[in-house]
Amino acid sequence: MPASAYVSVIGHETNYTEMVQLRYNYRLYPAPGQRSALARAFGCARVVFNDGLRARQDAHAVGLPYITDAELSAALTTAKGTPARAWLGDVSAVILQQSVADLNTAYRRFFDYRKALREWKAAGRKGPQPREVGLPRFKSRKDRRQAVRFTANSRFRVLPGGRLRLPKIGDVEVRWSRDLPSAPSSVTVIMDPAGRYFASFVVEATPGALPGAGPVTGIDLGLTHFAVLSDGTKIASPRFLRRAEKKLRRAQRSLSRKQDGSRNRDKARVKVARAHGRVADARREFHHQLSTALIRDNQAVAVEDLCVKGLARTRLAKSIHDAGWSAFTGMLEYKARLYGREFHRIGRFVPTSQVCSACGVKDGPKPLHIRTWQCQACGMWLDRDINAAVNVAKAAGLAATARGAQVRPGPRVPAQRGEAGTHPKPRREAA
Ligand SMILES: [Zn+2]
Repeated sequence: MPASAYVSVIGHETNYTEMVQLRYNYRLYPAPGQRSALARAFGCARVVFNDGLRARQDAHAVGLPYITDAELSAALTTAKGTPARAWLGDVSAVILQQSVADLNTAYRRFFDYRKALREWKAAGRKGPQPREVGLPRFKSRKDRRQAVRFTANSRFRVLPGGRLRLPKIGDVEVRWSRDLPSAPSSVTVIMDPAGRYFASFVVEATPGALPGAGPVTGIDLGLTHFAVLSDGTKIASPRFLRRAEKKLRRAQRSLSRKQDGSRNRDKARVKVARAHGRVADARREFHHQLSTALIRDNQAVAVEDLCVKGLARTRLAKSIHDAGWSAFTGMLEYKARLYGREFHRIGRFVPTSQVCSACGVKDGPKPLHIRTWQCQACGMWLDRDINAAVNVAKAAGLAATARGAQVRPGPRVPAQRGEAGTHPKPRREAA
């Protein structure tokens, strides 16, 4: 039935042939018995995934053709009839099929990547290099995230009392933080590293039925500030992280002064190792705080892919920053997925600092010490970092504006500093 015939559209065109998938996530509170049933389900899904992966690897190792999706599915049915795998019958058959489907998807992504890479090389390496996708890897009990997916034909359902009925698990308590807009097509049950459970529902919707778009933000990660947002907010590393880094540097200097083989050197080495650990903890803490805030406050975020930022840096500084940045963007990515937000990574060939974010004119590279300039085409005063953040958002197709943050009437106003205090929160400076 053409739904569009009955929907009046105001103000914008909507393509009703295309469905979008929205994710709605809720906290689950399974009872002890349900928790062990879920553990069994996670385990079975893992075993099926790993069995399939091993079969394909073994076939590849002896030169046999790729095991097709249909063959793998048939092998699963056969395995359930054998004593060694009979216990797979204790869980919903759907989650096992979905686990095999995940494996197939992982392989398809890998093949697509290899094809794209070959084509990119054949075309003389023009344009952005395809993003690397590895072969699927074995799942482990120790993985940080355990998940199983129930589709509609597994007959999961939301009961009138609000509990979620999961086949062979039970009726699980849900905290409904917001309403589901329509009947979900699937639900993924997730256990996170903290041992918390979530239900992530997929709801098919027409774009016209999308909830009003919240703010969208482009993020520029840099050296002068940890991050600059397209709305003009500049975020420095928090005080607790800088303090830990300072202590680490002091410990390292002290170590380098100690004589080889001395007891003092051993002691100093232990101190450096401890300081390293504290810096890593503080950095992780900061990344978590900031990524949670950004995902909570925005409908969509975009960051630049940071393989190369083309800046002249020492190799050491670069490696330190890159490590921090990739951990941070990884958090943004998984939190976006967890909370049903959009996440975009922008290819590294987009010249975010060379293009005016107001009028789009590309006026070439500028030396690093140039922090603000006036666009010769439209006369806008641009702040290097904010301009980059807006361009990142635009490259992701997000309609970001700097909301006047980068418009400056005259010469550069120094950034306000010194929000005093020891609050362990990302420090926000007025731009
Ligand atoms: Zn301009």
